[in-house]
Amino acid sequence: MELARCQATQLLRLLQTGAVSAAEVTAACLEQIHLQEPRVGAFLCVQEQQALRQAELVDEKRRRGQPLGPLAGIPVALKDNLCTKDAPTTCASRMLANFRSPYDAAVVERLRDAGAILVGKTNLDEFAMGSTCAYSAFGVTRNPRDPDRVPGGSSGGSAAAVAAFETPLALGSDTGGSVRLPAAWCGVVGLRPSYGAVSRYGLVAFASSMDQIGPLARSAADAQLLYRVICGPDKRDATSTAFSQPELPSMPRVGLPQEYFAQAEPAVAAAVRETAQLAFPGAAECSLPAAGAALDAYLILSSAEASSNLARYDGVCYGPAGVGENFAQQARAARDEGFGPEVRRRILLGTFALSAAGNAAYYQRASRVREQVRAEFRKAFDRFDLLVTPTTGRTAPRFGAYADDPAAMYATDLCTAGASLAGLPALSIPCGNGADGLPVGLQLLGPPGAEPLLFAAARRIEAVQGRSDAVP
Ligand code: GLN
Repeated sequence: MELARCQATQLLRLLQTGAVSAAEVTAACLEQIHLQEPRVGAFLCVQEQQALRQAELVDEKRRRGQPLGPLAGIPVALKDNLCTKDAPTTCASRMLANFRSPYDAAVVERLRDAGAILVGKTNLDEFAMGSTCAYSAFGVTRNPRDPDRVPGGSSGGSAAAVAAFETPLALGSDTGGSVRLPAAWCGVVGLRPSYGAVSRYGLVAFASSMDQIGPLARSAADAQLLYRVICGPDKRDATSTAFSQPELPSMPRVGLPQEYFAQAEPAVAAAVRETAQLAFPGAAECSLPAAGAALDAYLILSSAEASSNLARYDGVCYGPAGVGENFAQQARAARDEGFGPEVRRRILLGTFALSAAGNAAYYQRASRVREQVRAEFRKAFDRFDLLVTPTTGRTAPRFGAYADDPAAMYATDLCTAGASLAGLPALSIPCGNGADGLPVGLQLLGPPGAEPLLFAAARRIEAVQGRSDAVP
């Protein structure tokens, strides 16, 4: 059996029975990384030696019969906006090219405690702003399903790493769709957790009222395994909280909001509808009229928050305190290179939306739309346990498709922005192919705290798809 192709749940069984060691699993993933990286480019940094050392420690503990965590020996990749003290954290920005965090993000601590093997940091759109991963300052990531296509963004490196069998699991961050979109375009599973379900301590902020960290995996069971490790309250993130755990009713009431299907390519809409009907017979049409306005409101609010969050980098130089060389280097980089075009665009838009001239017309109006979106979802969840939509209206575009048209890129977030504004959990799962043979993503939406329900529904979808490999 090719170890790198195994899912985390399968690897855990092999590790527990002693059929393989953590060192062997890690070596297999590292070998796959060597093989795939020239083509895919998912990683900004691979921590080969550290990973092998962590694996040996897990094996040693197992030999001694010491207690092991739920991810003992499982390789995980981390989006490079998650702070790690043993590797650079660049956010794919020249601004932070030499930044080393003095601490680990809360999710990284939890992964270490769970025995996960941290193999490296993955590429993203600079500061998580974008839908293609092509706005990284440090090179492109290619879609493993077709190297002429983008992997999606902003967590494109994490999705590509999982899709290319470089690691079974990865973490991304999702502000307006950045876990779900690359999951859809790379053909893997990705979850945006409910707002507050996962601590953002140590996640470099983009838009704090929406940022969430979420798992990427090759099956619902694997995504759930990783989610269980990272979720739960943390006193260092005041928005984090514990949710009660609803069960999936045997006959869930599923709604299909027509506005989310209307703008999708016909093959994408058909694939999602068909799968929804197969998995949930009786799924009914419904309407969420604010879907389009939600996208505009997302862009305004996220940019406003970004302009405030990113102001700290302007003129302030990051790096280990007192390290003169690093400081001077940072200052030069900030002056000469600074932010890339997309980040600058968002800062300009956001600063305007918050200015005296723009506040009432943009920021306040967008905030009202946000309330409307929340109310619409609340009403929908009175009638339905779950909603099913396409994750995005199309399959992965070619490189350069949005080079001169940022608005077309923003439009790819139409189906994902609503859950972000309303703080809802949302899961993207592969669902057949589009007209071009590339993966289509189906999005499951639920009320806050409905993650267990989304995972159960995702498993049901995998079952009707006959993806028995995806069932534990
Ligand atoms: N594509 C969205 C954007 O560019 C989502 C970003 C994100 O979720 N981090 O804003």
